[in-house]
Amino acid sequence: MLFSDLDIDEEMWATIPKESTECQDWEIRQNVHQSKISNIEVPVHSLASEIPSSSNIDPDDFSNYTKKSLSENEIIQILSSRDFGKEISAYPTTKARKYSKEWEKRYSWLRYSVLEDASYCSYCVSFGQGDGLFKTKGFSDWKNAVGEKRGTFKIHEISKMHTEAMEKSENLLSVSQGEKANIYSSISKAYEDKVSYNRKVLLSIIDVIIGTKNLRKKMETLGFLLIGKLKLMSS
Ligand SMILES: [Zn+2]
Repeated sequence: MLFSDLDIDEEMWATIPKESTECQDWEIRQNVHQSKISNIEVPVHSLASEIPSSSNIDPDDFSNYTKKSLSENEIIQILSSRDFGKEISAYPTTKARKYSKEWEKRYSWLRYSVLEDASYCSYCVSFGQGDGLFKTKGFSDWKNAVGEKRGTFKIHEISKMHTEAMEKSENLLSVSQGEKANIYSSISKAYEDKVSYNRKVLLSIIDVIIGTKNLRKKMETLGFLLIGKLKLMSS
């Protein structure tokens, strides 16, 4: 921003109180004039380049997972979820090429970083050894992404790093899902045991009730017989 950009015109002078002396008025005019001719650049935005733009900050963007050590929960999230970060309606075009969501149908390990406009591998980011493309460095050479001869996705998929990382990823997922299944099965078993116990208790109560009823009937029957016999004896 330049002082010379300030649009100070006669209208502004009209706002100065009329009681100002001619001397003060002159001093103000002189100061502004000096500012106008000095053309000094005020460093209002000098720090702008050092402060990242808010559009470059997104804690949910996939690229964040490629720059830190991951917790087990984060790895499970990476392996289980497809979409990270801001929703995107259209992928940016570079050299007339762009990322295609369709690729994820064939290569389920593909993860896309909106901020970097680059793709990563969920298995290699989770368990890949060392640094490399699809793990710490995003791939964005879309022209050579797919294709029989130069398809980078295909080449990556059969690489040693990828196949080893895939095995570890699948193990983690199966253990994590297995644990869940075990928890559900334990809950289910405990519930079944309780239902079974309650059923037995209920049946015992019913038996007692029925037994009591039967006993009463037997007593009533016996009573009638005795009364009948006594009547016969007395007659
Ligand atoms: Zn991989």
